[in-house]
Amino acid sequence: MRKKIVAGNWKMNKTVEEAVALVEGLKLELADVVGVEAVVCPPFTALKTVSDLIADTEIKLGCQNMSDQDDGAYTGEVSHTMLKELFVKYVILGHSERREYYGETDAIVNSKVKKALSKNLRPIVCVGEKLEDREGGNTEKVVEEQVRGSLADITAEQFEDVVVAYEPVWAIGTGKTATAEQAQEVHAFIRGIVADMVGQEAADGLRIQYGGSMKPANAPELLSQPDIDGGLIGGAALEAQSFAGIVKAG
Ligand code: 13P
Repeated sequence: MRKKIVAGNWKMNKTVEEAVALVEGLKLELADVVGVEAVVCPPFTALKTVSDLIADTEIKLGCQNMSDQDDGAYTGEVSHTMLKELFVKYVILGHSERREYYGETDAIVNSKVKKALSKNLRPIVCVGEKLEDREGGNTEKVVEEQVRGSLADITAEQFEDVVVAYEPVWAIGTGKTATAEQAQEVHAFIRGIVADMVGQEAADGLRIQYGGSMKPANAPELLSQPDIDGGLIGGAALEAQSFAGIVKAG
């Protein structure tokens, strides 16, 4: 039985002061939630503060990117050692915004995934087609390429620490959610690819999140699909009640 995981990707939002207010709200809202893993992924600048605030709670800490290097002359980058020092557990890798605006390829994402796994950090690996891919009937082709490329050479055992997030780019921040059927179809497809890569058992244990305009109102239907194991939440994660509403639907 896969434990549902709902993660808030705050993106480039929230000062430290704003982060404190949000986390205080989340602590109240999520105090008695059981059976669903809730993760917050603030910007790097708020990680330390958020880490301290959630230390005595069940809320887990994630971040939004990580270097594939250990240390040294990599201006602007953040290493696994720095993240682990702050008790970060999850690292979002290969988000479509990083692929689109910062040129991250499957090869780069794969290198980061390998580094994270080798350092006991759990990657949340994002994949998803653009509108033109879907309209051109290329959703499966694009998603398969991203899954195989971003997760190349990962063993069945390592897959236990991997989370995949299916985020159709056309549904991100647009208010257009994939229907539960559309999302379920791609989730099942991804699980099938992973089964082909590392075997059915590892694929059955893999948690696959949906992301893209997920809200408390549409979360119950999405999260009740057999292959949807949680959500990766953008806009609705910036407000305590709406994020908690999604977690509680899990
Ligand atoms: P929205 O929930 O704002 O559509 O963003 C989804 C997302 O990109 C999470 O990583």
